[in-house]
Amino acid sequence: NVRKPEGILLPRYVRVNTLKTNVEDVIDYLKREGFSYQGHANGIQDLSGLRGKAFVSDSDLPNLLVFSTKKTFHDHYLYKNGHIILQDKASCLPAFLLNPPAGSHVIDACAAPGNKTSHLAALMSNKGKLFAFDLDAKRLSTMSTLLLRAGLTCHQLANQDFLKVDPHNAEYKEVKHILLDPSCSGSGMVCLRDGSSELAEEQAQAQEASRLQSLSAFQLRCLTHALQFPQVQRVVYSTCSIHTEENEQVVAACLQQNPNFRLVHLLPDWPERGLSPHTECLRASPTKTLTHGFFVAMFERQANGSQAVN
Ligand code: SAM
Repeated sequence: NVRKPEGILLPRYVRVNTLKTNVEDVIDYLKREGFSYQGHANGIQDLSGLRGKAFVSDSDLPNLLVFSTKKTFHDHYLYKNGHIILQDKASCLPAFLLNPPAGSHVIDACAAPGNKTSHLAALMSNKGKLFAFDLDAKRLSTMSTLLLRAGLTCHQLANQDFLKVDPHNAEYKEVKHILLDPSCSGSGMVCLRDGSSELAEEQAQAQEASRLQSLSAFQLRCLTHALQFPQVQRVVYSTCSIHTEENEQVVAACLQQNPNFRLVHLLPDWPERGLSPHTECLRASPTKTLTHGFFVAMFERQANGSQAVN
């Protein structure tokens, strides 16, 4: 019975691309343009109510700046030159939590248009190998332009079905980290109220049920496939869905099929958890975290499985 979030105004989040600049320089640049920096937010309450040119550093994630809802940066010099990435706070969680070290080998399984890929590369300081796959050639070509602009050099893009990537191919023998952000219903994306009637909404929900079933089957296949890479230690799974079918139910089925992996308890202070019993996972929503609706889980190979991570 989860309803799609409607008509809620979220702050504008801006991730500083540390492959091109640093957060201090971006803050100074914006101050020179008349923006007013209010310091580090102490909590989510400081992120709402930002007005005009006021902005803060996010309370939870590094290199993330927060502005009022109405600020747009699409024509801004810093955006056009890849110094900043316009990315919702919740969508910054997967790469931040996976946190691959510089020099590591990493897979971004369903990567386009590449915001999380560029975040991973920034965390890796462009050192190591970042294999990024996507099935959609058009999205991949947009991604290629965006990644060039963001200064990535450690990536290798492939227009390939992740489910057909051979985990035992020698090329991936050092892959210890995988980010999996597969296609989902998108039900967490905040949209404006469209004025549709309750009847139309019920019909849409009935169609949605069968769509959700096939999406969650696909998501589970991708997740199980990710866990087959022989050296993989950590896999982050995320969706921008609010539906249990695509989130906790996928996680539960995956754990059942892969007893050599367990869930990592993520960010103990984060205000919204996965639904019981999967409270190790995170949820995000307009009301509790001032973001789009989102879900993140992190799987870790059990100690007796293979070598330790990092
Ligand atoms: N991670 C991306 C980002 O942060 O910019 C967003 C990914 S989007 C939610 C899901 C992507 O999965 C789409 O671009 C879609 O084309 C791709 N996709 C769907 N099925 C796939 C498959 N079997 N193998 C690889 N990519 C797939």
